[in-house]
Amino acid sequence: MRYSQYLLPTLKETPADAEVISHQLMMRAGMIRKAAAGIYSYMPFGLRSIRKMEQIIREEMNKAGAIECLMPMANPAELWQESGRWEKYGKELLRFKDRKETDFCMGPTHEEVITDIIRNTVNSYRQLPLNLYQIQTKFRDEIRPRFGLMRGREFIMKDAYSFDLDDEGADKSYSKMYQAYRNIFNRCGLKFRSVEADSGAIGGSFSHEFMVLAESGEDGIVSCDACEYAANVEKAELVYRDLETPAATAVLQRVDTPGQKTIEDVAAFLQMDPNQLVKTLIVQTSEDKVLAVLLRGDRELNEIKLANKLGVDWVLMAEDDVVKRTTGAPTGFAGPIGLKIPVIADAEVRGLADFVVGGNAVDVHYTGANLNRDFAVSQFADVRQAVAGDPCPRCDCGKFESWRGIEVGHVFKLGTKYSDAMNATVLDDQGKTKPLVMGCYGIGVGRTVAAAIEQNHDEYGMMLPMPLAPFQVLISVLNPKDDQVREASEQLYQQLLDMGIEVLLDDRDERPGIKFKDADLIGIPLRVTVGARNLKEGNLELKERASGEQVLVPFDQLAKRVQQMVDEALFVSL
Ligand code: ATP
Ligand code: MG
Repeated sequence: MRYSQYLLPTLKETPADAEVISHQLMMRAGMIRKAAAGIYSYMPFGLRSIRKMEQIIREEMNKAGAIECLMPMANPAELWQESGRWEKYGKELLRFKDRKETDFCMGPTHEEVITDIIRNTVNSYRQLPLNLYQIQTKFRDEIRPRFGLMRGREFIMKDAYSFDLDDEGADKSYSKMYQAYRNIFNRCGLKFRSVEADSGAIGGSFSHEFMVLAESGEDGIVSCDACEYAANVEKAELVYRDLETPAATAVLQRVDTPGQKTIEDVAAFLQMDPNQLVKTLIVQTSEDKVLAVLLRGDRELNEIKLANKLGVDWVLMAEDDVVKRTTGAPTGFAGPIGLKIPVIADAEVRGLADFVVGGNAVDVHYTGANLNRDFAVSQFADVRQAVAGDPCPRCDCGKFESWRGIEVGHVFKLGTKYSDAMNATVLDDQGKTKPLVMGCYGIGVGRTVAAAIEQNHDEYGMMLPMPLAPFQVLISVLNPKDDQVREASEQLYQQLLDMGIEVLLDDRDERPGIKFKDADLIGIPLRVTVGARNLKEGNLELKERASGEQVLVPFDQLAKRVQQMVDEALFVSL
């Protein structure tokens, strides 16, 4: 491709609404343009990366035995009513009517449509297992679309759906997809972790997220430094082996703590450490129950773990008036002594004695508080947020390390949720009717490319790994008006094209400074600079964008050298 005839509108300035680096760079490097909030056009340069991502996905999905199809964006409401999600999905589901006033929605995901296809086409266990996938544009009317392709409203997703006769088969399908996902992200050249994820009502560890590691990630993850265990902090388990409650030694004392609001304030005032305090949070559940949760002073509540333990959809911090009603004091002074609501304590609290708690009155605390003696706990449960340094729940010796991650993929065992609701069954080998056991598997195509930029950039621009880079080599023609320079560049360009290498030839009539700036910004992994001075000696300069390493290579060896470097960068042993 000749730069002079291409559409690659780079920007010097960072667009004001682009908060994260990948969004800034994708705009500045002319990869995307915004049409509306969360809705983007893929410009030619950006589309090349998107297509490469899709191709890697396609190859690995096919290798794993999945079959490609393509479902419609417009989904009939009927199917969504059948599954019950027409009512449940909320405002993210974009609904509309056609000219006959029939209800439709834009597909945010395709369980309904695929289940309908399968129930109408598959009726015997002999046709199983099946796994169908598509690479398709989704629409979710996200409440806060942001970060460019990272959280769009219209975005490209690969979604796959597996169908098996029984759980055992479904588990096999799941692990095939798990492995395919590992292959995909390895082939993209990304640093990632697959982590156990919260699977809500279904439970168990039948949900894994694939996280690209990046400081800017929205998700917190922990991984064991000694074994394979890794989990989203939403889910990360904590176990306290052989934890015994120490004997109480202090007497319970009511103390005044004037003006001390936060845990840190109270701890400093009493000349203690926050971990000698136990905080009491008043929470409300989706079923309108109010309860108290105890946590060591320096810990944070994990609301998702708590909701799962309670078997409710969600928990929230109670409103001020509820706190006042249940504790007799405004928010910030709650304590377990004398409370009339159920008290759930984080499992770690079982190992504490002689601690400080709130006094259910303004500016009052108790010191020397003890479990059982001073108040009762209805249940101990693992409900706090895991942090770096916490002991691993799976092995004896490991400790958690913590990371930030961007969720780029999600594998999920669905079970019979949709096949039950939509009556998708097959006959087994005994002629008995069985609901299909399903799995679903998503990858955000644009989000992965954006995440790759979050992980690979510097102050001058992006450094997409070779497998996802729009082009493999850039030839910077320093002075296209110099006949020798132009001819050498053209010759090399042709040679590389003939070898099947993806080349962008910067033949623009621009100053070298501008060409170098743009080269750094668009970050094509290899750059060949053709300049009069080196050329006189028979050499060209070859530079790697990511490492900054540069070498002079004789003209006649250059193409071969480039080919080697491209091949090496694309080869991943899986
Ligand atoms: P999130 O928690 O980030 O909203 P999700 O749990 O809703 O994600 P899934 O329904 O599992 O996501 O979708 C599969 C994949 O699609 C995700 O792993 C992610 O890579 C991608 N994805 C989801 N929502 C968006 C979005 N709004 N913009 C871009 N990609 C998205
Ligand atoms: Mg979502």
